[in-house]
Amino acid sequence: MHYANDLDVEYILHSSILYRDDNNNAIAAAYTAAMGEAMTDKTKAQWQTMADKLKIEARAFINGHYVDAHDGATRTCYNPATGTKLADVANCGIDDADRAVQGARDAFESGIWSKRSPDARRAVMVRWAQLLEDNADELALLETLDVGKPIRDTTGSDVPGAIRTIRWSGEAIDKIYEQVAPTSHDTIGLVTRIPLGVVAAIVPWNFPLSTTAWKLGPALASGNSVILKPASNTPLTAIRIAGLAKEAGLPDGVLQVLPGPGSSMGAHLATHMDIDGLTFTGSTPIGKKLLEYSGQSNLKRVFNELGGKSPNIVFADADLEKAAEAAAMACFYNGGQTCTAGTRLIVEESIHDRFVDMVIEAAKAWQPGDIMDPATAMGPMIDQGQYDTVKDYIAIGDSEGCTRYGGDSNIFPESGGLFLEPVIFTGVDNSMRIAQEEVFGPVLAVIPFKTKEEAINIANDSIYGLGGAIWSRDISNALSVAEEIRVGTLGVNNYFGGDITVPFGGFKQSGNGRDKSIHAFDDYTELKTTWIEL
Ligand code: NAD
Ligand code: MN
Repeated sequence: MHYANDLDVEYILHSSILYRDDNNNAIAAAYTAAMGEAMTDKTKAQWQTMADKLKIEARAFINGHYVDAHDGATRTCYNPATGTKLADVANCGIDDADRAVQGARDAFESGIWSKRSPDARRAVMVRWAQLLEDNADELALLETLDVGKPIRDTTGSDVPGAIRTIRWSGEAIDKIYEQVAPTSHDTIGLVTRIPLGVVAAIVPWNFPLSTTAWKLGPALASGNSVILKPASNTPLTAIRIAGLAKEAGLPDGVLQVLPGPGSSMGAHLATHMDIDGLTFTGSTPIGKKLLEYSGQSNLKRVFNELGGKSPNIVFADADLEKAAEAAAMACFYNGGQTCTAGTRLIVEESIHDRFVDMVIEAAKAWQPGDIMDPATAMGPMIDQGQYDTVKDYIAIGDSEGCTRYGGDSNIFPESGGLFLEPVIFTGVDNSMRIAQEEVFGPVLAVIPFKTKEEAINIANDSIYGLGGAIWSRDISNALSVAEEIRVGTLGVNNYFGGDITVPFGGFKQSGNGRDKSIHAFDDYTELKTTWIEL
């Protein structure tokens, strides 16, 4: 199963072994959510009981052991849906980072992992994936509580996707061949890939487990030592999976997990002279800083996966029913806190009014609710800061003269959480801030077009180039437009399509690296030439 489509949803719905599903894809969960179907066979009460009993590991993981921060500092982690405290998490600083880098370097130089055969590394990665699968419910619950993601999403997408990513990366590593160059008869030119060495991975709060797996899969399988810094407000699954990696046989020091602040400890990793590579998922402004830090320090390889403002183009001849449901899902999934969210809906003028009505109708499936209830499709904003940012953008859209549907009232206030309902702006011009800037909330901007050329120009008129989609029944129309759109991942008659087998990353200011697929291994290895004269 490689593509997200209705068949995948059918498969998942009727699959009794939810976690065995190999679909690494948000769309299946999202479509299912829109259809009002649960992705888990546990009830809300059962999840709640499990949450009440949950023991949360909140320490850093350094050199194979769970440890407190060197200075004993902690940072309290809250459930964004309720405001209740989850844990006091180790808040690592410079000393912890230096210790972790030294341990990672020692492990790398020892060869205990870096020089282990690909087959042996494969075996550890696959065992680790199995342990993740054995603990899938716990991981889903942790991610739900920590991030405020509906349990449907974590059981249906984040956790099975992460499992598949780790398993796939492990399974790939003993199947990749290296190259012999076409040289003259008395020479041999070997072109090999060797691990970078010590790699730092810095990840965001919106898809903590998914983005972590995208980094750790290829980085560890390639033989690197990795220092993982989760976002300071969503460290819990990263901490948990490190212990499972040890249990699977990953040697001490090869994976270090440092929960802590980005601005100090994260920046220290990024400027560290003994870190060879830095893989990042997060915002564009921080991605720019990381490139500067690299230049100021040791020119470590930096691969960025950054923000987006992705175009979703709907032609009049599209399957409008399907396109409208997907347009709502593309923007409102994960509360719009998705880098590839389809936030610019670019609609052919002749169907504009009718289609907007259909999207408004489809948005009703994305009312926020209790994240522990398997029927809930949308959770809260991650924190007060993000909530306020989104509210500000709603005010900006109003002041730019757009027409707004939704967003008048704070809903679900009894939760104490940070919930927003879907907002749709029409009458948007692509030059407006609401069309140019990443909101990172459930706010859709609808922009009309008359000609195909105009649609292409609007879609490309952005500093970003991450995701997008085109909807048309005329395949030559769709493909001729697809060819012109400058984004890393483009759907034709689907949104959020793709799985672990295809690369994911951005053009322009959406970044330079590629997660997923065999191409991800390029970010964690150096190409080496060995020229042999006979
Ligand atoms: P962020 O850039 O604020 O933080 C990301 C990570 O960087 C966190 O771990 C943070 O602690 C760390 N950090 C912050 N300042 C740092 C510094 N000076 N040096 C080193 N590390 C630092 O982003 P966020 O708010 O956590 O995540 C949302 C952003 O991530 C959005 O812009 C979104 O589009 C983007 N994102 C991109 C992708 C992708 O693959 N392209 C995927 C998910 C999210
Ligand atoms: Mn949290």
